[in-house]
Amino acid sequence: MSGLPLTDPMAPERHDGAPMAMALEQAMQAAARGEVPVGAVITRGGEVLARAGNRTRELGDPTAHAEMLAIRAACQALADERLTGCDLYVTLEPCPMCAAAISFARIRRLYFAAADPKGGAVESGVRLYEAQTCHHAPEVYGGIREVEAAALLRSFFQERRGG
Ligand SMILES: [Zn+2]
Repeated sequence: MSGLPLTDPMAPERHDGAPMAMALEQAMQAAARGEVPVGAVITRGGEVLARAGNRTRELGDPTAHAEMLAIRAACQALADERLTGCDLYVTLEPCPMCAAAISFARIRRLYFAAADPKGGAVESGVRLYEAQTCHHAPEVYGGIREVEAAALLRSFFQERRGG
């Protein structure tokens, strides 16, 4: 799948290959740092603008989720407060904070891997993008490489419980 052009507008479901692999890599690096393994990547027109993993512990910042860091970096890269036409790939269904930030940033498409029934806000919980007060909802594609992303999270939490 990674061989397909990222810019093919006719097949959004085919965009996931390479960026989601990159997001999973970011998640693994987060786990190696002792952070909850979630990774995010932002692309525009086939170009990777930002990639990030969770850094809440390292930065002592509860808002340092992978999506937030990736959005900040991409905005900086574009010198723009909006990420119009950009797509965000993340290994876990975004929480309410990140789902809102994705909306504020005007992200075009959201691709996520594992669903998060306990903390998610897209398909789970408050389902933010279905709210009348949500002024921009991205197109959402869930379940991309969810098995790998979920396994990563599971083993991380199992190890922490065991240790
Ligand atoms: Zn979040």
